[in-house]
Amino acid sequence: MRLPALMPLRFYNTLTQQVENFTASDGVVRMYTCGPTVYDYAHIGNFRTFTFVDLLRKWLRSSGFRLDHVMNVTDVDDKIIRNAVAQDKTLADYTRIYTEAFLEDCATLRLERPERLAPATEHIGEMASAIGRLAETGHTYQTDGSVYFRISTFPGYGKLSHNDFSGNLSGARVDVDEYEKADARDFALWKAPKEGEPFWDTPIGRGRPGWHIECSVMAIQYLGDTLDIHAGGVDLIFPHHENEIAQSESLTGKPFARFWLHAEFLMVEGQKMSKSLGNYFTLRDVVARGYQPEAIRYLLASVPYRKQLNFTFDGLKSAATAIDRLRNFKLRLEGGGFAEGSNGQLATRAAQAAQAFSDGMDDDLNTAEALAAVFEYVREANSAMDAGEFRRDNVPGALAFLEYFDSVFDVLKPGARAGELADAQVEEMIAARAAAKKARDFPGADRIRQELLDQGIVLEDTKGGVRWKRK
Ligand code: AMP
Ligand code: ZN
Repeated sequence: MRLPALMPLRFYNTLTQQVENFTASDGVVRMYTCGPTVYDYAHIGNFRTFTFVDLLRKWLRSSGFRLDHVMNVTDVDDKIIRNAVAQDKTLADYTRIYTEAFLEDCATLRLERPERLAPATEHIGEMASAIGRLAETGHTYQTDGSVYFRISTFPGYGKLSHNDFSGNLSGARVDVDEYEKADARDFALWKAPKEGEPFWDTPIGRGRPGWHIECSVMAIQYLGDTLDIHAGGVDLIFPHHENEIAQSESLTGKPFARFWLHAEFLMVEGQKMSKSLGNYFTLRDVVARGYQPEAIRYLLASVPYRKQLNFTFDGLKSAATAIDRLRNFKLRLEGGGFAEGSNGQLATRAAQAAQAFSDGMDDDLNTAEALAAVFEYVREANSAMDAGEFRRDNVPGALAFLEYFDSVFDVLKPGARAGELADAQVEEMIAARAAAKKARDFPGADRIRQELLDQGIVLEDTKGGVRWKRK
């Protein structure tokens, strides 16, 4: 379903601090988003940002754009090296475990794979050569085999974070670990290996890349000098994204990204959910407590991405209830039994609701507004059904609207694993199928049978009624 937008698609751009109309000249959106550091399982705070990226992808596609999206996988950094060395594993053996876990978790949350996943360690040569070019153009200096970016050579520094660095003194010693820097803002492009650490042998010497150069190099390599969108969590605005801009624009002389989008934090009792504070849950923790992944996805998606979202288990329960309401409404629609004809007013309401949904999403992915449109319509349609005013010809419009909603939110299909569907839910669907058959809505009945089959539930029509079993 594509709707004529009354207002164009708009995003808040961190770079300009304005809401701007979004376009992409050839209909393709070149997008780079910062991916996980694979040293441990990701927590649901991380997944708030990744879920935002997934909504962004799905809404861009729904708006008619094609996507060329790259996400890095940071598979070399201090923590990874420390843990791998402590466990006597190679970097690759250590990071494989958490990369796979991350991809599994993404699938659990129904997050689409970007067009390209780019592991940092597969691009070390390109990073070394980019650092070489930065050295040739005077943007770097070396200390003890490590290479630093000299911020004073990039006048635009601070333009993304809107930080004023005029009070920053050269030679300030803010970080004992990095005392060798000429200026507190300077950052490592290349780190010389310490005793016992893994390293790469490259034309710029032995060592490994810093985190920031990884993103600049892979983004430009796959997407070109100027990206349409660069996104990540708000904690990456400074210094990570500011440093990416400094490196990239020093390399190409062109603006690095047109739109910078940043997702706010998932919070726990007023604090950012984070590993270091210990106030985190991994996706696996939450699923192990019996919550459906769809409810987690819904909760993470339901608050517009630029607002902080306070995580509670009550919030998760409400998310599950919201999904149940929508699934039950869908079952009611599929169950049929409606009188012939069409209720014109309701048909108009379905069209208006779809429009309001689309307008909400166009408004910088205002998911709260979009969801309000869905629930308002569902409430009205349910009351119409109760009053016998919902007609058979209203069903396709209502189903199309739900499908439109679900092409972005992706929560209606029950969990993919067989056994996840509770017995009561199976019984409910069988009853809906029987009602559909009774109303001679055979396509509707077949759809339900297929949905059950997709969940590993096999139906058998017997004289004594329907029997079912799990495959
Ligand atoms: P990391 O694996 O630490 O590099 O983080 C992966 C992504 O998760 C980054 O885009 C972070 O900005 C994001 N992130 C980390 N903590 C949170 C949080 N509490 N809420 C939302 N996003 C977060
Ligand atoms: Zn990055």
